Amino acid sequence: MARYSIGQATVSPDQPDFEQMLQSAYNSKLRPNCLCVGASGVPMYISQINGRFWLKRMPDTGRQHATGCASWEMPEEFSGRSDLYGSGFTYEENEVKLRLNFPLSRRGGQSPPPTAKANAEKPSVQADGKRLTLRSLLHYLWDEAGLTNWPGKNARRNWTFVNESLTIAADQKTVKQDNLQHYLYLPEAWTKEHREEIAGRRRERFARISGTDGKNGHQLLLVIAEVKDIEQAGMGFRTVFYHLPDCPFVMEQKLHERLLRHFGKEMRMWTGKQPGHMILTGTFSVSPEGTPMLEEVCLMFVSEEWIPYDNIYELAIIQKLVAEKRTFLRILRYNRPTAAPMPTFLLTDHGNDPVALYVLDAESSADVAQVEASASASSYAHWMWNPRTHGEILPMPAVLPRTDPATAVASTRVSAPTTSAIPTRATLSGGFAQPVNQPIPAPQTTAQAETLASASAASIQSRFA
Ligand SMILES: [Zn+2]
Repeated sequence: MARYSIGQATVSPDQPDFEQMLQSAYNSKLRPNCLCVGASGVPMYISQINGRFWLKRMPDTGRQHATGCASWEMPEEFSGRSDLYGSGFTYEENEVKLRLNFPLSRRGGQSPPPTAKANAEKPSVQADGKRLTLRSLLHYLWDEAGLTNWPGKNARRNWTFVNESLTIAADQKTVKQDNLQHYLYLPEAWTKEHREEIAGRRRERFARISGTDGKNGHQLLLVIAEVKDIEQAGMGFRTVFYHLPDCPFVMEQKLHERLLRHFGKEMRMWTGKQPGHMILTGTFSVSPEGTPMLEEVCLMFVSEEWIPYDNIYELAIIQKLVAEKRTFLRILRYNRPTAAPMPTFLLTDHGNDPVALYVLDAESSADVAQVEASASASSYAHWMWNPRTHGEILPMPAVLPRTDPATAVASTRVSAPTTSAIPTRATLSGGFAQPVNQPIPAPQTTAQAETLASASAASIQSRFA
C-alpha cells in the first residue's frame, strides 16, 4: 500500500481519514512526499477538484517513483501513446491540449460530417493517425486515470471509483478552447434514494445542448459508460447504460451496422458474457424533445478490475496477476495498428525495472521472430507467452525487491499496512515540514499550474470500496 509523508507523519490511502488529512495539509500548505523510493520521498501536491482533495504527482517526476507506485510513469517506448506526443496532445502552459480527429459539434439538422464517418470506418485510423480518435482518447483517459495501473494488494474498483478517476484525469485537459470536462459526460453512480436529484442534474446538462435546427453550432457531448443492453426498438436501437436506467440512448440503424462491423470482437466478448464490463465511448447530441442520440461510438472491453483486455489469453494473465497480488501496468495501443508488436503488460514488482510481457494472440500478424526481435531491441527484460504452443501460462518473473540501497523503504511497500502516525487533523498542521512551494496561491490555479505536464493523476486506488 502506498505511503506518503506529510509533515512528520506517515499516511496511507487506506486509512479512513486520508482525505481529511489531505484537506488539512492543503490548508496548511504542507507538501506531501511519496515514500515509494525511500524516506527522502518524491514530492507530490494536493489538488482540489469539485470540492474534494486528491494527491497528484508533480510534472516530470513520474520516473522518480518506484516501479509499481501509482505515480510511476512507464517508459514511453512501450506505449502507443508515444506516437501522439506533439500531435494528438501537446503541453501548453497550464494544460494538456488535445487534438481530436472527430467533431464535438455540428450544424443543426445535419448528419455528422463525412470525416467522422470515414474515421468510424477505421477505428485504428492510419490516414489521420496523429490525432486522437475516440479509441485513443479513451486509452489516454484510462491511462491518465491510473486505471491501467494495477496496484496489487487491497485494490477494489467500482463505477464510482472509475468515474472519479476519469473526472480527475480530465482536469486540465482542453479541447479547442474548452476544458474537456465541458464535453465529458460520465453517468453518476445511481442510487434509488437520490434518483430524482441525479435525473435533475442530467436533464439540466442535456437541456443545455439540446438541439434546435438553425445556424448555431450544435454541441455534442462525449459519454463514457458501461453498456447494459443494446436492443432493437422502433427505428433503431436503444442503448441502455448501467447507472442510467431511466435514460436510454438512441443508436440509429446505420451506426449499429458500423458498430458490428468494426467492434465485432468486443460485441462477441460481450455476447459470450466474458467477465468484466463493456465500455462505450461516443459522441451524442440531444434532440429537441430531449432524447440522447449517439453520433459516433467506440467499444472497449475491460476486466472485472476495469483493466482493458482483447482476448481470453490477456484475461488469463490479468486473472493470474491479480490473484497473485502482483503490480502491473496494461499497455494500450492508442492509434498503433494491431500488426505492430507491443508488450501487453509491464510487470512492475520485479526489482527496479519493469519486465515487458508479450502475449502472441491470434489477432496479431506478427510471428514469434518479429515479436522476439522487437522485444530484444528494448533495454528492458521481457517475457513471452505463445498460447498456441503452450496452453498453460509459462512461469512468470518472480516478485523481487528493489536492490538500490537508497530504496530500502520501497521494498517494504508490500508489507503489512502501516498505521497513521497522525492521531488528529490538528497535528497535521502543526508539523515541522517545509511549507509547500505552491506556484500560484489560489486553489483552483494551484492545481492548474502543477497539473499541466503531469502525465497522469496519481489516483489513490483504495479510496472507494
Ligand atoms: Zn511513488
